[in-house]
Amino acid sequence: MKKIITVVGARPQFIKAATLSRQFKLLGIVELIIHTGQHFDTNMSDVFFEEMEIPKPAYQLSINGLTHGAMTGRMLEGIEAILINEKPDGVMVFGDTNSTLAGALAAVKLHIPVIHVEAGLRSFNMQMPEEINRILTDRISNVLFCPTDTAIDNLQREGFDNMPITIIKNGDVMQDAALYYAAKAEQKSDILKKINLPKFILATIHRQENTDSPENLKDIVQGLNAINQQTPVVVPIHPRTRNILAQMNINPEFKLIDPVGYFDMIMLLKSCELVITDSGGVQKEAFFFAKHCITLREQTEWVELVDNGFNILVGCNAMKLKNAFDYFKTKVSDFSIDLYGKGQAAERAARMILEF
Ligand code: UDP
Repeated sequence: MKKIITVVGARPQFIKAATLSRQFKLLGIVELIIHTGQHFDTNMSDVFFEEMEIPKPAYQLSINGLTHGAMTGRMLEGIEAILINEKPDGVMVFGDTNSTLAGALAAVKLHIPVIHVEAGLRSFNMQMPEEINRILTDRISNVLFCPTDTAIDNLQREGFDNMPITIIKNGDVMQDAALYYAAKAEQKSDILKKINLPKFILATIHRQENTDSPENLKDIVQGLNAINQQTPVVVPIHPRTRNILAQMNINPEFKLIDPVGYFDMIMLLKSCELVITDSGGVQKEAFFFAKHCITLREQTEWVELVDNGFNILVGCNAMKLKNAFDYFKTKVSDFSIDLYGKGQAAERAARMILEF
């Protein structure tokens, strides 16, 4: 029987892993989860395991709150010890966090095949820790599951065709999650009652380039305050962003709520007028739920959303943000184009993992 170790640590990885775990169960692949502990609060971690029925982690490393180097180093050490003991047939990692890189690096040094899900994405901004993690993880993986044609093109441009690495376009596992959990969310979530707003804009802010720069964060808050005067803005606030706002003594005029579970997030996405975010995942989810998106970044890995007119990049410029908001107020789009597959990305990946 195939035995896979999955390494996760941050919120978006729980959501991606849920889709693969379900398929592994169906196919009889044995999966052990290592939770590095990068995100640990109930509403940043436990809620996803419960709602999405992700198997309980076999290992909890509880590593968080450190600098990038210290965090990655400790994860590497912890994961290596587990891999030596468990001897899995493969190690699966997701996306672009320190947990992704640590999992891949621990495995490759032990000659254990590395499977990277959501591979090939690039922002071409080496200031982003995520970009460094992605590039290095792709290079030391054995199998790269890519969500988009752009991801495949990126890898080809970097010469991956000449490397002994299997590259597969399987679609986007986040699309699988959105489709699979949408009906459950309708039944289980009461977030719309709680916020009690007939019309609202959903926003999220957590990217380091925005939270760690007082100027950027101030500009974003100013832009959202202006929009909030016309349509209420609701922000499930990331703990890091909340702490920094408090430290800087900034009291936004818009509505801050605690981070929500995935079911609540789906209902907010389904019901909002517009999405404003610096998240990678939320940009796509806006599209899945047929909403325009304004992205608080200068680049995106999801360029097809911009190219098709669903997403506008505004950086942290309050004026550009307001202009994009005004533009989208009257814009009508057809969101039926298939950019990310039809919700079978995890099934495809799991079947291929079974065959390797
Ligand atoms: N998300 C959530 N609750 C929240 C905010 C985000 O469930 O309060 C989900 C969101 O729907 C998406 C994922 O978390 O699936 C995105 O994670 P995040 O924005 O933290 O990371 P990124 O995608 O930028 O790596």
